Amino acid sequence: MGVSPARPRPAVRDDLRALEGYHSPQVDVRVRLNTNESPEPPPQAWRDELAAAVASVAWHRYPDRTARRLRAAIAASHGVRPEQVFAGNGSNEVLQVLCLAYGGAGRTAAVFEPTYQLHAHIARIAGTSVVAGRRGPGFVLDLDEVHRVLAEHAPALTFLCSPNNPTGVVDEPASVEGVAAAAPGVVVVDEAYGQFAPWSALALVDDERPLVVVRTFSKTWSMAGTRLGYLVGPTWLVEELDKVVLPYHLDTAKQLAGELALRHADDMAERVRRLVAERERLVAGLDRLPVEHWPSGANFVLFRPLARHGREVWEGLLERSVLVRDCSSWEGLEGCLRVTVGTPAEDDAFLAALDEVLS
Ligand code: PMP
Repeated sequence: MGVSPARPRPAVRDDLRALEGYHSPQVDVRVRLNTNESPEPPPQAWRDELAAAVASVAWHRYPDRTARRLRAAIAASHGVRPEQVFAGNGSNEVLQVLCLAYGGAGRTAAVFEPTYQLHAHIARIAGTSVVAGRRGPGFVLDLDEVHRVLAEHAPALTFLCSPNNPTGVVDEPASVEGVAAAAPGVVVVDEAYGQFAPWSALALVDDERPLVVVRTFSKTWSMAGTRLGYLVGPTWLVEELDKVVLPYHLDTAKQLAGELALRHADDMAERVRRLVAERERLVAGLDRLPVEHWPSGANFVLFRPLARHGREVWEGLLERSVLVRDCSSWEGLEGCLRVTVGTPAEDDAFLAALDEVLS
């Protein structure tokens, strides 16, 4: 058989050609503090209950398409109605479905940098134009800048992130209310780290306000391996998302995992309390080193070595088998690194390695 002549490869969509993939290296190290996972596994009782529930799943049947029980359990945990809840495969999928439904060709999404990179990335993949405003000093939301961006671009979607990743800064209630009052489209408040923060925009969710709060089981619930996230929002918006998402997108085991996890809310709250206390201990450790750092309402801390370049410090830590997130080349975050709050032993190992690298 002859070899067929080389054919030109099909081209990707024009608007995706310049897109870079999302990179977060998964390196084998002793101390992994780069992806804001929980350092503690979920409770053993949850594992046992899930194993028992999975044993009797009817695997030849499609899952419950509406994820009725899971939605009801999530709704109950927030004191809202199940019709106000939309769940997805991680909060990233929830963000994607929002972009598919409310973004797309001819529409714009607004972000305020520096912030979670996937807001802009997912919006672009969904064909949405992205406009980036800047945050003010200390990475605080600047309402004048917000009003400028909203007035100039009338975005169909406005993304906030509170606590913000990667800065850890929590937006003030008045700022979020100000954005909600001024935004012409849907306001998305990404609260992936919401349970670590002193307040939540969940209180603002109302059928009369086009605002959604997005949450995840990946962080506070110690379930990053499950890929489960959700939003709480107006019922009419949830109805639109239900039309857009693929049928049966939440598999049966995942629905059970989430539903059963919610029975362990006390355990989750206790883990959050421990992590917040540990975050303060980590911050006290950073206070003793030649670094600048920012107040965090999340399970990570952004810091900048004062006399050494961030990338060099990141490499020095890696040589000591400690992996943190290198944000040093991101716009507005020059020289910065982000460390996830780990176990006390992991944080001590990080602080000792950082001390060594910096001295
Ligand atoms: N939003 C923010 C702000 C995040 O930091 C992350 C995870 N890094 C996500 C959403 C996505 O989380 P997941 O898809 O695991 O729910």
